Amino acid sequence: MVEVNVESIGGGPGDAAHTSWLELSAGALKHNVEVFRALEGRGGTSRSLGVVLKGNAYGHGLAQVLPLVHGLVDLLYFIAPQDALKVREYERAQGLSPRQVVVLGAVGPHEAVVLAREGVEVVVADRGWEDAVPVLRAAKLERPLRVHVHIDTGLGREGFTLEQIPRETQFLVDARDVLEVVGGLSHFANTEDVTEQGYALAQVDAFETGLRLLSGQLGEGRVLQRHIAASAAALVLPRARYEAQRVGISLYGLWPSAETRLSARLVLGEVPVLKPVLSWRCRSQVVKWLPADSYVGYGCTYRTSEPTRIAVLPVGYYDGYPRLASGKAHVLVNGRRCAVLGRVMMNHLIVDVTRATHDERPVTATLMGREGDESISAESLAGWAQTLHYEIVARLGAHLRRVVVE
Ligand SMILES: *Cc1c(COP(=O)(O)O)cnc(C)c1O
Repeated sequence: MVEVNVESIGGGPGDAAHTSWLELSAGALKHNVEVFRALEGRGGTSRSLGVVLKGNAYGHGLAQVLPLVHGLVDLLYFIAPQDALKVREYERAQGLSPRQVVVLGAVGPHEAVVLAREGVEVVVADRGWEDAVPVLRAAKLERPLRVHVHIDTGLGREGFTLEQIPRETQFLVDARDVLEVVGGLSHFANTEDVTEQGYALAQVDAFETGLRLLSGQLGEGRVLQRHIAASAAALVLPRARYEAQRVGISLYGLWPSAETRLSARLVLGEVPVLKPVLSWRCRSQVVKWLPADSYVGYGCTYRTSEPTRIAVLPVGYYDGYPRLASGKAHVLVNGRRCAVLGRVMMNHLIVDVTRATHDERPVTATLMGREGDESISAESLAGWAQTLHYEIVARLGAHLRRVVVE
């Protein structure tokens, strides 16, 4: 019998005959962190800069992004407890001192015990946490679990509404032997959708009211770490910066929205430069000529009007390339924009390379990222697919190879 070493199939990017890969720029990430550090400095106070690593680090790849950001930021936010635990694993393996880690998402009672032992903090957003109290007590923890109380100030998602405090938060007072309240947080509903922040400022007011009620209930003198700002508010709403910021999309080098960029010019007097961390590339599977009047792809939705040199790319909606971008998208080949012809398929894209190359040798295509003066942004791809750049990056396949570059 012939032994097949599955690991040896598909080596580095040079060997990537049939898959696309993601390149992560360590330099771009570092630059974006520095942009936010400079903003913090403006208020003259030192604040904690936190990176949000949910959704496989916004599709960039947690395994690759964690080593890049661990030494640069003060705080790491996750949705899933099992992802948060990877930080502790990484720190132990590298002999690093533990960073503050907060799980924003839902946590079960037994997960809570593990997180408490690992010194990972959690968010208490509803009374479901009462069920965890006996489990935490039975676990005989050396230290209580550190918790942040989520106040719903107008998103209508997680958190206690002002009407629910203090009645529904009383259990926290009774469970202080196992739940130590160290922070308070909230989340904005529309900071990136508008340039006029009236609703956000009302949320900030509600946040402060909620924190006051909570502090009164927990006992005076309690100093809470307050955090409400995601990327947009950290950039354009100085009042929302508080002690910690939860920055997601913009540490990956993307603006939350065009509105936020506009607001930055007004509020900061300039638009900081954010550098996209991610590029998405692949080698062609085949390059060939099709005669005039040939159909291309499923559904025969495209027909060549002249002899056309096409490249078949081994990328499709399985990898996260949106099918809705069919007939609209472009990729870059040799620094030239090449139209995607016909439909995006599960594992294939067909592009017109008639003017981008001189022969039928394989080409490298950039699906997202820069080549010379041309670039394809996550925003462009999102526009072609009638969605948000957040969704484009978050849906990049976890199976794709990720390579860290300068
Ligand atoms: C996703 C998320 C963030 C980060 O948002 P960005 O717009 O990507 O910066 C912050 N806080 C919470 C609660 C989130 O869910």
